[in-house]
Amino acid sequence: MNAYVARVIEDTKKKNPDQPEFLQTVTEVLTSLENVVDKHPEYEQAALLERLVEPERQVMFRVAWTDDQGKPQVNRGYRIQFNGALGPYKGGLRFHKSVNLSILKFLGFEQTFKNSLTTLPIGGGKGGSDFDPHGKSDAEVMRFCQAFMTELQRHIGPSTDVPAGDIGVGGREIGYMFGQYRRVRDSWDNGVLTGKPLSYGGSLIRPEATGYGVMYYADEVLKHEKDTVKGKTFVLSGYGNVAWGAAKKIAQMGGKAVTISGHNGYVYDPAGITTEEKLNYLLEMRASRNADVKMYADKFGCEFHEGEKPWSVKADVAIPCATQNEITMEEAKEIVGNGTKYYFEGANMPATNEAIAYLQSNGVIVGPAKAVNAGGVAVSALEMCQNSERLSWTSEEVDQKLKNIMKSIHDNSAACAEEYGLGYDLVKGANIAGFLKVADAMLSQGLF
Ligand code: NDP
Repeated sequence: MNAYVARVIEDTKKKNPDQPEFLQTVTEVLTSLENVVDKHPEYEQAALLERLVEPERQVMFRVAWTDDQGKPQVNRGYRIQFNGALGPYKGGLRFHKSVNLSILKFLGFEQTFKNSLTTLPIGGGKGGSDFDPHGKSDAEVMRFCQAFMTELQRHIGPSTDVPAGDIGVGGREIGYMFGQYRRVRDSWDNGVLTGKPLSYGGSLIRPEATGYGVMYYADEVLKHEKDTVKGKTFVLSGYGNVAWGAAKKIAQMGGKAVTISGHNGYVYDPAGITTEEKLNYLLEMRASRNADVKMYADKFGCEFHEGEKPWSVKADVAIPCATQNEITMEEAKEIVGNGTKYYFEGANMPATNEAIAYLQSNGVIVGPAKAVNAGGVAVSALEMCQNSERLSWTSEEVDQKLKNIMKSIHDNSAACAEEYGLGYDLVKGANIAGFLKVADAMLSQGLF
């Protein structure tokens, strides 16, 4: 291994021994940059990799709020401003009981390269809380969002840091947070948050953007392989925003998603999640106070496999859309054993590094998260443009821009892989393409 890369990985491990998810992504990204680092000794002279793995700023804060019984509750809030070399920090907020510093640092690190790949001027950030929205009333969610934003507002702004949604944060939560931001700051800065409802500056196609982007990217890969989405079967995990958008676009393109999943099991619908009724029901489930994927099986009379993941189901394409590390070696072997040819990451880091290596070495074409799911943040950046202009674009205009961005992410990743002698390795290609632009900006901005 390149000595500089090896040293930075070792130092990062020593400094962050209790952050497994963060170390996983740092190892994955840095090892894929070896050929680039070999060619550019100036990176080591400028301590570029050491700076890249250290967030510019990490904010942690107390969020105290009152539940419906009048009892005080305390959660922890975070905002990681990872890298601002390309623009204002940009990345979602995650509300989930598992949230901790390691998970948000991994997400912020990934986001830096993802945002670079979009070609838009946005830096990398991520945030959230260990607040668990499951089972909470609407009033409790509102009080939590208000308390969270009362503290977060001092760290963000339309030209500083622009959060959006992620797991557990959708249009409702963004609305409550924007209301509180406006109340405290007393100014019309609607570009401070993206993923807003349309009535006060949201963008058309933003709810669909991540899932649609996944499929626009997939379409480019299939075209490269002289193949087509039409007639193909897809296994999906998750049933939230990303899974919904992907299933909808799969249906429009003539394919068929046959599974969705949640924390407690998966649903198998051999007829496919293709009708408007089924697709709209996914939205209802996600908005439900006691959201549970089993609701789908009960409503449409299909199989629910309690406590299991969907990867044993035979399909042409696998698209994880739930959470990190749901695919280990065991699931990777199932995917290969099923003869699945393509694997695209809708979720962030859904597989372990070993699982990805296994899929690739067994001929599965892997589209990595930072490229495949970049459509969400790309349309968020387009929402920022519309807010600055105080204009709204048509859905056709946004959709066409999204398509162009996803094609350029694919083409740029493929070209970088080719240039560094890596064939059609879209994983390394995306890391290299995302890194080069950030590295160039960091070098030219001096030591910081
Ligand atoms: P949602 O909150 O809409 O949905 C999350 C889904 O993941 C639910 O189906 C949930 O099921 C499932 N899930 C969450 N935690 C677990 C767990 N520990 N085990 C199994 N299933 C779990 O989130 P999104 O669709 O927005 O996000 C999904 C993934 O996509 C995340 O990795 C996110 O970072 C990534 N992403 C999202 C973007 C966006 O624009 N929304 C953009 C880019 C990436 P249950 O409710 O049963 O727990």
